[in-house]
Amino acid sequence: MKPKKIGILVLILSFFSVYFTGCSSDSNQNSSKNQPISRTEFMMDTILTLKIYDKKDEKILDEAFNRLKEIENRMSSTIENSDISLINENAGVKPVQVHEDVYYVLKTAKYYATLSNGAFDPTIGPLVNLWHISSDEQKERDSIPTEEQIKAALELINYNDLELLEDNQVFLKRKGMQLDLGAIVKGYAADEVKRIFEENGVKSAIIDLGGNIYALGQKEDGTPWNIGITNPFEPGISYVGVLKAKEKSIVTSGDYERYIIYNGKRYHHILSTETGYPTENEVTSVSIISDKGIDGDALSTTLFVLGVDKGLDFVNKLDGIEAVFITKDKKVIPSEGIKSQFTLSNDQFKLINE
Ligand code: ADP
Ligand code: MG
Repeated sequence: MKPKKIGILVLILSFFSVYFTGCSSDSNQNSSKNQPISRTEFMMDTILTLKIYDKKDEKILDEAFNRLKEIENRMSSTIENSDISLINENAGVKPVQVHEDVYYVLKTAKYYATLSNGAFDPTIGPLVNLWHISSDEQKERDSIPTEEQIKAALELINYNDLELLEDNQVFLKRKGMQLDLGAIVKGYAADEVKRIFEENGVKSAIIDLGGNIYALGQKEDGTPWNIGITNPFEPGISYVGVLKAKEKSIVTSGDYERYIIYNGKRYHHILSTETGYPTENEVTSVSIISDKGIDGDALSTTLFVLGVDKGLDFVNKLDGIEAVFITKDKKVIPSEGIKSQFTLSNDQFKLINE
């Protein structure tokens, strides 16, 4: 890791510690015998924290973090020789054989791209690279991409040109195409940590991969976890409300997570495949509640792009998926099936509950 990154990491860590305390909130009120074993690492361009409440075995954490590293090494588009980088390098040239897990994530990504008509699109790489909005980069900019650059990048984006062939072979049909799995890989990673925890007999744990939460089992006293939903206007400082969850993934996409500033205007990291610019609608954050993290992650990005009305229609057609939208004018809009599990805790927001 470069020295510049370390400085930023320390900053981010101290900033986020508040967030994590609140996230699995009532764990901290437990007596000391119920304190979890916990570990935090910086990986996947974010802060990953794993907490196990019912086992004191550090080896389980070792195994989980090793798997997270393996997933990053295979699926990051910025790591040389990752499967994703190899597919990108061979775009328009030849198919590349990838690990089974990479193939599975790509298959799921293509499924949600098709379902959302490209609102979510894993071939968004050229646009992501153009904007390069990432956590460790200088936030104030003296330029943003030009219209011509954006137009050229948009022409390279099309999930139909991502071919998933036999024997885990993957091919991007046109030169210059680039995969970016930033919107789905942490959800998959959370599912994998969950699998490892369960294989080791863990029944009570919180997996937090930079805001992609998996609430494994329940609290040791048998009650559900309380998961705080971040206040998008004061991230890391306050919450909008609390979700009760047992054995659920809760993934949030928000415009406050990563952004740059140009001419006093904020440009965030969730991009519209129609305009080529950061998505602009009434949404400031959306959380997805689902059984699997991979679905929640893909859908949090998808629903952010679709907005409240289309987004609610979209989740209503899917089994076992719920959403909580927060809008720029401070409305909180839960989907039907999650209303009874959500409590508003911040009077600056209005709960829309009809
Ligand atoms: P985060 O990674 O901050 O949790 P998301 O899950 O919403 O947030 O993913 C955002 C990331 O996904 C971006 O940083 C970018 O790499 C990629 N991305 C941005 N817009 C889209 C999109 N419309 N479809 C697919 N991936 C996207
Ligand atoms: Mg996502």
